[in-house]
Amino acid sequence: MAEKRLPTFIVDCPVCKARVAAEEQGRISRTGYVNPEDGDVEYGVSVALGKCPRCHSILVGESQQVAIRGYDGYEHEWADPIRVYPDPPRAFTSSRIPKVVSDSISEGVKSLQANANVAACVMFGRALEAICRNILDTSVSSDTTQGARKCGTRPTMLAEGIRKLRDAGIIDERLLDWSQQLHAFRNIAAHPTDIAISREEADDLKTFVFAIVEYVYDLTDRYNDFKERLERKKRRDAN
Ligand SMILES: [Zn+2]
Repeated sequence: MAEKRLPTFIVDCPVCKARVAAEEQGRISRTGYVNPEDGDVEYGVSVALGKCPRCHSILVGESQQVAIRGYDGYEHEWADPIRVYPDPPRAFTSSRIPKVVSDSISEGVKSLQANANVAACVMFGRALEAICRNILDTSVSSDTTQGARKCGTRPTMLAEGIRKLRDAGIIDERLLDWSQQLHAFRNIAAHPTDIAISREEADDLKTFVFAIVEYVYDLTDRYNDFKERLERKKRRDAN
C-alpha cells in the first residue's frame, strides 16, 4: 500500500541543529489584502505545525507574506518560515537596548536558523560592538573613552571592549572569562579572512550575547528599580 506523504516545510530544528523538512500536520494562514477604501496594505502571516523527520520534535514555523496577488506579485508569496516554537526569539524588556543591538540580534538569530553560521557570528559580533559603544561611550569617564572608540572599529577590539566592561564593573569575571573561552569569538577576532564556524560555536555566541544583553540592560534595570523601591520604603519608614 502506498504511504500517504505529508506536505513539508523547511524549518530549523534546534535539536538536530539543522534545517529539516518538517512534516506538516496543520497550517493556518491569514492572507494579506489591500484595503479598497484607503489603499492600505496589510500583509498576511502563515503558521505551520509539524514534526522533525529525524528527532520527531514538534516544530512551528511562521512565514510572513512578502507579495500579494494582483498587488505586488502574480501570486501570493511567503518568506521562508522562521521557527517560533520551541525556543522562540528572545524578547528583552529594557527600553535602553539600542535599536542597532536588537536589529543585529534578530538578524543573527535568522542567520542561525538558516544555517548561515558565519553571517550569524558577524551579526552577534556587531551586536556586541554596539553594546560596547553604547555602554562605554555613555557611562565611563574620560580615561577609558579612547578605548570605547577603539572598540567597534575592528572585530579584534571586541575582546578589549568586553574587558573594559569588566573593568568598569558592568559585567562580571565569569562573563569576561566566557568571552575569552569562546572559540567562535576568537575565530572572528583572530582570523577574519579564513573563518570556519560550526553551528555549535555560533549558538554559543548567541547565548553569550543574550547573557550580556540581559546582564547589562534587563537585569540592571530590574536592580535599579529594586533599589529605588527599597529607598522609597526606607524614606517612608523614616517618616
Ligand atoms: Zn530534529
